[in-house]
Amino acid sequence: MNAPSSGSSSSRPPKRRFRKKFAGKRPHQSGHGALADQPAAEQQAPVPSGPPKLAEGFAHLGLAECLLRSLGDEGYDTPTPIQSKAIPHVVQGRDLFGCAQTGTGKTAAFALPLIHRMLENRPEIKPRRCRTLVLAPTRELAAQIHESFRSYGRHARLRTAVIYGGVGQHKQARDMMKGVDVLVATPGRLLDLIGQRLVDIRGVEFFVLDEADRMLDMGFIHDIRKVVGMLPAERQTLFFSATLPAEIRSFAESMLRDPLEVKTTPQATPAETVAQSVIFVPKAEKKTTLIDLLRNEANGRVIVFSRTKHGADKLQRDLTKAGLVAAAIHGDKSQAQRERALAAFKSTRPPVLVATDIAARGIDVDDVAYVINYDLPIEPETYVHRIGRSGRAGQSGTAISLCDTEELSKLIAIERLLKRELTSRNQRPAAASPPARGPGRRGPPGQANGKRRGPPPRAFSRSKKPRTADAAPNPHRWSKPRNSTSN
Ligand code: AMP
Repeated sequence: MNAPSSGSSSSRPPKRRFRKKFAGKRPHQSGHGALADQPAAEQQAPVPSGPPKLAEGFAHLGLAECLLRSLGDEGYDTPTPIQSKAIPHVVQGRDLFGCAQTGTGKTAAFALPLIHRMLENRPEIKPRRCRTLVLAPTRELAAQIHESFRSYGRHARLRTAVIYGGVGQHKQARDMMKGVDVLVATPGRLLDLIGQRLVDIRGVEFFVLDEADRMLDMGFIHDIRKVVGMLPAERQTLFFSATLPAEIRSFAESMLRDPLEVKTTPQATPAETVAQSVIFVPKAEKKTTLIDLLRNEANGRVIVFSRTKHGADKLQRDLTKAGLVAAAIHGDKSQAQRERALAAFKSTRPPVLVATDIAARGIDVDDVAYVINYDLPIEPETYVHRIGRSGRAGQSGTAISLCDTEELSKLIAIERLLKRELTSRNQRPAAASPPARGPGRRGPPGQANGKRRGPPPRAFSRSKKPRTADAAPNPHRWSKPRNSTSN
């Protein structure tokens, strides 16, 4: 094993997570992979002083003690369902087929047992090679997974690197020169660097494909097949997807061996901790409705979803004009701009992020209080992923959708998927009534509901301020440049 180093890891301290219910303190035990003799300067992240806190709720999963210490540092005390189900089997070397959304703790469900596996033996890593390869669809997600490996592996001698497009390749190539334990990558840049012989994946022992359905949506299927074709046949593979269409199943079958199948929540079920509602509003009044919500109700971190990049930019400008400072994040922004916007949002300056769906899955920001769907998404599953940005890991959140006449069919598709009607904050137009309440009023399932002739439903025909009586009065209304330092 090469000398310990932080590899490409940045010098930022690990992100503090929510739920800081620290596990019981124990006297220091030097364990499997622990860094008892490692100089402080070489550790990946600052380690809190005092006796180590062990996440005792994880003790029965068979993880190395240094991982329990990291979990104690994170303030995790109990494994999430996917962690309880997956970790013991992955520790045993089993392939995994996981159906899980972000927000369920799935990153730790694969990162922890894989770090454990890597600690079991520590062969010397050859230049440009990695032992674990994680493929993720977006740069943001790749960066977050990388950060998670750094946090969970902070008491282990892990070298890690992350590579993605949109930024120069020089640093990434340099990070890979000596080889790393963990490489997290997006497919395009990975293939690029492999083609230039700057990365070599022939030594991969553990392979993770995260958000496979998203990868397929984004057209990465050929790239992934190419990558998988270069991997050694003898490896452990973990495959994660939020949804399981037939295409994903056959894709998974082609690369997994006798996998354990783990499903956390029924397909496309949003977190129960998110209170969901809809406001029916004419298109022309969406902007003022949004501004009202931001001024009078939506406190804390808010993500506003726009369907298009252009729309996101315009909305950001409009909010700024209205004195509501917001950042925008979408695929046309440079990597540096995206990182800046995300970092600013994480520090709640500004507390409003206008995002397109590229950001829907990848953003792991604790404490997103509100998700506002300014536009309803085309795919109903995307709704579930969007609102999953709040209500993470058991926290409560609020999702409000602004629905105009042209979006009724999208709302109906979402409600079909959820198998329930969203709470309406104002009068629900007849065309948006569920089949049970209005038989004969709409065509059969699958037809373009909402393409109803005649005048628009009442709810859209007059300006109605959203009823926000069910929301707690906002003691910290903010309008003009907000002088918020809270976080
Ligand atoms: P993920 O599904 O991997 O995106 O994780 C969602 C969020 O849950 C992240 O912010 C994690 O830090 C957090 N998390 C993961 N596992 C736990 C746990 N066992 N206890 C508390 N928080 C957790």
